[in-house]
Amino acid sequence: MISKVDHIGIAVNNLEETLKVYQEVLGLELHGVEVVEEQKVKVAFLPIGDTEIELLEATSPDSPIAKFIEAKGQGVQHIAFKVDNIEKALEDMKTKGMRLIDEKPRYGAGGARIAFLHPKSTNGVLIELSERK
Ligand code: ZN
Repeated sequence: MISKVDHIGIAVNNLEETLKVYQEVLGLELHGVEVVEEQKVKVAFLPIGDTEIELLEATSPDSPIAKFIEAKGQGVQHIAFKVDNIEKALEDMKTKGMRLIDEKPRYGAGGARIAFLHPKSTNGVLIELSERK
């Protein structure tokens, strides 16, 4: 059901500054930048092989990313797994006793349909399920 690591989400204070490191030092290519209003984040995508690094900057102090940085500092915020049918995956996770943050898929950057599993159910990691056509 899970076919690969779709991307790794990293919370940063300043996207511009961080992009310098990823582009100029690490030599990755910037695929695009998108603001996702619903989640109050500005997202930059940097593909590596068949996965991606997703850099996330808060666009508002009440953004989940701002809260994450406040609590834990900058760094890896979530890991996203690719699924082919997100409704089915969520139903399956729920049946298996997983606590869900999103009962229903919502819009994710890049046109994906996403949902988060609660870190309390995964022993500490915020896992995103992502369905992309
Ligand atoms: Zn993500």
